[in-house]
Amino acid sequence: MTELTRLSAAVLAEKLRAGEVSSVEATQAYLDRIAAVEPAVHAYLHVSAQEALATARDVDERRAAGEELHPLAGVPIAVKDVVVTQGMPSTAGSKILEGWVPPYDATLVERIRAARMPILGKTNMDEFAMGSSTEHSAYGNTHNPWDLDRIPGGSGGGSAAAVAAFAAPLAIGTDTGGSIRQPGAVTGTVGVKPTYGGVSRYGLIALASSLDQAGPVTRTVLDSALLHELIGGHDPRDSTSIPEPLPDVVGAARQGALGDLTGVRVGVVEQLQGEGYQPGVQARFEESLELLKEAGADVVEVSCPHFEYALAAYYLILPAEASSNLAKFDGMRFGLRVEPEEGPVTAERVMAATRGAGFGDEVKRRIILGTYALSAGYYDAYYGSAQKVRTLIQRDFAAAFDQVDVLVSPTAPTTAFKLGEKLDDPLAMYLNDVATIPANLAGVPGISVPNGLSDDGLPVGFQVLAPAKADDRLYRVGAALEAALEARWGGPLLDRAPELG
Ligand code: GLN
Repeated sequence: MTELTRLSAAVLAEKLRAGEVSSVEATQAYLDRIAAVEPAVHAYLHVSAQEALATARDVDERRAAGEELHPLAGVPIAVKDVVVTQGMPSTAGSKILEGWVPPYDATLVERIRAARMPILGKTNMDEFAMGSSTEHSAYGNTHNPWDLDRIPGGSGGGSAAAVAAFAAPLAIGTDTGGSIRQPGAVTGTVGVKPTYGGVSRYGLIALASSLDQAGPVTRTVLDSALLHELIGGHDPRDSTSIPEPLPDVVGAARQGALGDLTGVRVGVVEQLQGEGYQPGVQARFEESLELLKEAGADVVEVSCPHFEYALAAYYLILPAEASSNLAKFDGMRFGLRVEPEEGPVTAERVMAATRGAGFGDEVKRRIILGTYALSAGYYDAYYGSAQKVRTLIQRDFAAAFDQVDVLVSPTAPTTAFKLGEKLDDPLAMYLNDVATIPANLAGVPGISVPNGLSDDGLPVGFQVLAPAKADDRLYRVGAALEAALEARWGGPLLDRAPELG
């Protein structure tokens, strides 16, 4: 592998600016790396080599002509396939969208293109972002670069695996219940779920509109901040977009890297540790807490009693919203259309045949759950109750943030499990997100920072949560932890991953 693909995006951007390397060289290095590792990893559903190189050539020409460019201009990026990209397939990991080429760009893609970042391709994911392992993709499994027999997390396993395998310096993920942070934890990468409304949802293929957020998947905390700054901020095309400037996430990451957390109050969530968490995950978590204390933080324990019910509430609210969002895949408007094998070709029968053939088992399961939870007579008992629990969780966060600046927990209870291990047990699969889901229900931001290897030699993640619109705190604490850990390890965690390709 060429050394170019091992650079952080921030360092690569510096080298591009200084003229030490061209965007064509960097982009070609990544395309070569993709060709070398994709047979083993399968992080991508679509690689857009020609288009990426064309953007790179254009950037190099503009730079040579002295044009003022965005700091990330020329740095390649991969995009999760749930984000629509004009002229480039966007399947959301589903058969029902096979062959659909969107006629427009998501707002965040517009911003990436405006910054002149070459788009390497679209990454694999669980169908419609439902899952924690990427095994629910209709297009095959993605393999964890740390151990090819294991899952890369989900739903954004493709983005995380691409970044961990040095097959992209940056990637976009989406996080509805943990799909950026949990893949980050199990692949040794950094993942950020911004505050709800902090990054435009315009052009995301919606899973659960009140929970979905797009965010960065990277190898360093600073890289996430740089990408967050680019894609974040107000967008009039998303009615839930926050009409205020983004906090200074890049400044916070740079400040955090200096390693001083004096006066920062850190709350350890009592309910998000202990039983059910793998001993190695718990041990790394406690070591990281010591590092935060050494950096000057005040670490206290905080109770969020309703977090216990977060998973149950999420699996009513999410299916309810998803069942409504997925109603548009009817065999008429997008992608797949299947006609009934016999009998009349009515709209309803085409719809049934298309949805029967086009959706996978997990998607069908959630549509059935969601329509049931919303049906007359059951609404109050299920959906209505779940919304009340959601309010209680929001109040737990509010009370906790009266006492502390950030909350922390392990990102995921275990390291990457074996492919196939939990495929037939939806509840076991859902449990992976116990620690990440509360943030989505409350709309608060969260980051996962790689904080070591468990006893099985696989990466684990440390989660930091902050109040809504205080995303900068994630970066300050995350960068301080990253700096302390790398000083101890003598380099990034990913240096210890097995060599591929
Ligand atoms: N794993 C969770 C689920 O299956 C989260 C998914 C997500 O964040 N998109 O719903």
